[in-house]
Formats: sequence, C-alpha cells, structure tokens
Amino acid sequence: MKTHCSFCKKASEIVSMMVTGPEGRICDQCVTQAAQIIQLQKEDNIINDIKPVNLLRPQEIKAHLDEYVIGQEEAKKALSIAVYNHYKRLSHPANIEDDVVIEKSNILLVGETGTGKTYLVRTLAQMLEVPFCIVDATVLTEAGYVGEDVESIISRLLHAANYEVTAAERGIVYVDEIDKIARKGDNPSITRDVSGEGVQQSLLKLLEGSIVNAPPHGGRKHPDQKLTAVNTEKILFICGGAFDGIARTIGNRINFNSIGFEFCAKRTPKIDDKDILKYVSSSDIKGYGLIPELVGRLPIVRGFEPLTKSDLRRILTEPKNALIKQYTKLFAIDGITLTFTEETLDLIAEQAISLKLGARGLRSICESIMSEVMYTAPSLKDQQNLIIDKDYALDQLARTQLELLKPVDKSSQASELKKMA
Ligand code: ADP
Repeated sequence: MKTHCSFCKKASEIVSMMVTGPEGRICDQCVTQAAQIIQLQKEDNIINDIKPVNLLRPQEIKAHLDEYVIGQEEAKKALSIAVYNHYKRLSHPANIEDDVVIEKSNILLVGETGTGKTYLVRTLAQMLEVPFCIVDATVLTEAGYVGEDVESIISRLLHAANYEVTAAERGIVYVDEIDKIARKGDNPSITRDVSGEGVQQSLLKLLEGSIVNAPPHGGRKHPDQKLTAVNTEKILFICGGAFDGIARTIGNRINFNSIGFEFCAKRTPKIDDKDILKYVSSSDIKGYGLIPELVGRLPIVRGFEPLTKSDLRRILTEPKNALIKQYTKLFAIDGITLTFTEETLDLIAEQAISLKLGARGLRSICESIMSEVMYTAPSLKDQQNLIIDKDYALDQLARTQLELLKPVDKSSQASELKKMA
C-alpha cells in the first residue's frame, strides 16, 4: 500500500525517509523544516525574553556588596548608585520628544593592587546576573598592530553572554590597568604610541556608545570573517587602575605638603596618607596622561583606600567566602575541625602588609602555612581537631620564600642604583 507524509502528503517513493508514528507519518523534509521553525522560534524568544536585570535599590546593592567586600565604603556606595541609575535609565528608554536625556555614567576606580577593585565589580555583576568580562588594557593596541584590538573586548562580552547580542548589550565590562595606557610624556615622539593614546581613542568610541563590529569568537578581524554588530550604548564600562604616584598629585592639588600630605593652612583638617585617594578627581587623572575626552566619559571617579592590617584581618574571616571559611570547610569534609588562633590571623595580616600585594597576598601566605597539613592531615587516623597556632605558622612560613612575591619597590630600587653609581 502507498504511504504518504501526513504533513506534506508526498508519497514515500519521492522522499528519502519516512518516520511512522501511531497516528501518522512524517517525511525527512518535513522533519528538517520543523526543526528550522523551532530554532527560529527559540531565537525569537531569546530576543524578546531577555531576563530583566535583577535590579535592587542602592542601599540593597550596597548591603549585598558588604557581605563580600570589606571596607571601601565610598566606592561601594558610589558603585551602587551608579549601577542603579544605569539600569534605571535602560528600563526607561528616552523618547525623541524627551527634553531630559539621562546620560550613561561610566566609572573609574583608582587604588593600589589587591584592594578589591576587580572583586567589587565582579561581585556586582554576579548579583545583577548580567554578562560580565574583565579585560586588561595593557594587551590592547591600535588596530593593525600586534596585540588585541579594542573590539576584542566586545567579543569577550559576547562570549560571556552566550553570544546573545541583546544580553551582551546590557552587560558590564571591567577594563583593568587603564593607567598603563596613559600618554607617555607630553612630547609626541616620532615613534607611534600604539598602546597608549591610540588605544585611548579607540576605547573612547566604545565608551561613548557606538555600533562595534566584533569578531564573535575573538581574535583579529580579517576580511572574510562574519562580524557581529553590538551597540555599546547600554554597556556599563568600569575602568580601574593603580595610578602609581597619583597620591602626590592629589596632595599637591589640594595644597598639601607633598611629603607628609600635612596641610599647611589651618582651615582644612590634616588628611591621613591612607585617605588621600578619597580625594582623587578627574583633573588628577588627566594630569596622569588619560586624554580629556576619555576622562570626560568616566564621570564617576572613586578612590580605593589601601587596606590596613585590621581590614586584612577581617578579609580573612568575615566575607561570605572568606579564605579561613574555605579552609575550614575543606577540612570539615575530612571530618577535621580546623581552628586558627587569633595570633595566627594577626600574623597572616602582618605578613600581607609586608608583601605589599594588598589582599592578594593573603592566599599565598595561607597556602604556605597550610600546604603541609593539607598533605598530611587527611591520612592521619583519629585526627579530629587541628589548631594552627602562631609557632606552627611561623615555622611553615620560614620554609617558604614569600619574600620573592614582593613587588619591586621602584623608589628604593632607584636609590640603590644611585648609590651604586
Ligand atoms: P585589584 O584591586 O588589584 O583589582 P582584586 O579585586 O583582584 O584587586 O583583589 C584580589 C583578591 O583579594 C580578591 O579576589 C579578593 O578575594 C581579595 N580582596 C581584595 N580586596 C578585598 C576587600 N576589600 N574585601 C574582601 N576581599 C578583598
């Protein structure tokens, strides 16, 4: 008996395959067509059904950040407000008739390494559940030179957004080490500054909001490649950098004695060295070598304070996924109760201060102290309580060469060189 496809009615002789079910049949051509329709429908749904940003109010955002990031109160507050306003602006798009258009406020974070700049932005993006990527400004070069084009930033964001353009268009980009692309000196040299001002100009376009044609899977653009157009208008850019030596510029600007930042006149109270970055302004950043147009696109500038011993001590134990909590959990899985004495915690914080890597040094110090017990304790029978006291910690630290992690102190290096000369 002749059979037909229940959908297109073609006879089985003229199709390659026929799938038979209890109530009818479907030919291979109809199966392919149905799959295409489903795929298109799915893509449509993705576009129309992008998850709304998980928008909390500034105080709620700050409270969430407090659970992870210790200190940096001003920066957390500023970031909470900026993010709230940014996504509020996106949820109320401006009409052509609107007189008042709320402009995008990208943010610049200034602070020493390891003070929590990246961590703060990452925590924020996770909370908002928006696509997020981190890029290192030092690898960017002008188009056509060895290095990455600025478009690669958008490729990364696309990747973080599972290649959903609409989702990427409301993401957050953190551009780290922005200070490293500062203009080198005031005199334009004969050699091109391909990783400095040229990159700043290209970044400016992204920050201003433009349509960027990015290679979806990263890498360099080449002529036959299919590019994805992404509008950067709604992407929030947060830039960060250490801006070494900027404290002196700030001090000079606000009329401090540049050695101790002691104010000469009586009308302003003495400002602590530690607090100086709180007063960072756009003009200090311009003085550092970022072009005024770029600085203009980063209207919110906030300083990150250097972390004190007591901050570092808190970072060890207080945040939701604090290091000490992580070690305790690791040992608990083996049935071991791990305790760090107060003195040991003090010692770790002191060591971190001397390493000058901010909170970044804490993990290396803890690893040095813990690696031996992590190796031996799981094999010991009847080991239920393990106390890491100061003597044990000192003993373990003496065996490692933590000093080698110390960054080069440029000023002391210079004076040593001078002495040698
Ligand atoms: P940077 O300022 O150089 O971007 P990071 O944010 O990368 O520093 O900090 C490195 C690590 O140190 C983070 O992953 C985090 O675990 C820890 N850390 C730094 N600052 C803080 C802080 N203020 N509160 C809690 N953890 C911090």
